[in-house]
Amino acid sequence: MTMTLPPFRYVVPVRLDDALDLLAEHGPGARVMAGGTDIIVAMRERGLRLGCLVDLKHIPGLAAIGVGPSGSLSIGSLTPVRDVERSAVVRDGWGVLASAAGMLASIQVRNKATLGGNICNASPAADLAPPLLVLDAVAVAYGRQGERSIPMAQLFAGPGRTTLNGDILTGFTIPPMPGGARAVHLKHGPRNAMDIAIAGVAVLAVPDASGTRWADARIALGSVAPTPIRATAAEAALRGALIGPESIDEAARLAAEAASPIGDVRGSADYRRAMIAALTRRALQEVSA
Ligand SMILES: Cc1cc2nc3c(=O)[nH]c(=O)nc-3n(C[C@H](O)[C@H](O)[C@H](O)COP(=O)(O)OP(=O)(O)OC[C@H]3O[C@@H](n4cnc5c(N)ncnc54)[C@H](O)[C@@H]3O)c2cc1C
Repeated sequence: MTMTLPPFRYVVPVRLDDALDLLAEHGPGARVMAGGTDIIVAMRERGLRLGCLVDLKHIPGLAAIGVGPSGSLSIGSLTPVRDVERSAVVRDGWGVLASAAGMLASIQVRNKATLGGNICNASPAADLAPPLLVLDAVAVAYGRQGERSIPMAQLFAGPGRTTLNGDILTGFTIPPMPGGARAVHLKHGPRNAMDIAIAGVAVLAVPDASGTRWADARIALGSVAPTPIRATAAEAALRGALIGPESIDEAARLAAEAASPIGDVRGSADYRRAMIAALTRRALQEVSA
């Protein structure tokens, strides 16, 4: 079946300021496009009507990966998910992000889809959100007032909504992992490939100097609330507690309690909550093994 789209203006600016001018000129009928794996599908199959599509791919510098003097990772919003997955820099220092990238859709989709598009889409199920949340990533946005930083935990406003307010996401700054930290991301979906998560959990944990207690723990949940979230009560329960089955079970219980999932054709709300408990338990066991 061939599906035609109603006519729209397609523009390819080479400067961020030109992209902002185009967005201002066309108002709510204009949107930026990165890889196009979501927005084109929305136009073709979900009835999204736009007057102008502003393709960001030809603006130089938006797909760069580098490490700054402080050891932080700078990663451009236009970085293809496949590059996030394969980058030696990301794999060595921020492996949980690379491994989550490797679980998104198929290689074909990952070649097109971008890190920034995954986040700006603001799907509760965005695979790269939980790892960015536990890594304490900071989003960098560019707008009429210049550049501003938005901590990951403040970037999502609701399903499909961010706090970018029309600004363009240019990338993320991600601090180095704390010494001794281990992190893991687990995704549960109906099949291994091409499916968005029914539930996803990322965990980053740091043992204390004796190796017997949790010095720090961060837990982020995907697909079980209107936005990806941190399970803060579970994190607080772990801090200072003995590493072992008791603290892990309690954190898994509290993580499930933090979830407020909807039920749909892919899984009931109770099933998703049970999956959050199971995935949190498994992730904490993995990082403490
Ligand atoms: C077959 C298939 C399978 C998929 N599987 C998964 C999956 O397993 N997991 C998953 O998480 N997702 C999945 N997706 C969804 C989608 O591919 C990803 O979310 C992808 O990362 C989106 O990136 P993109 O660059 O293609 O975004 P685009 O489609 O280009 O843009 C998405 C949205 O973000 C906005 N946007 C993009 N870049 C910026 C920016 N720099 N600044 C401001 N706004 C911006 C756009 O205006 C648009 O609203 C799948 C999609 C398909 C078609």
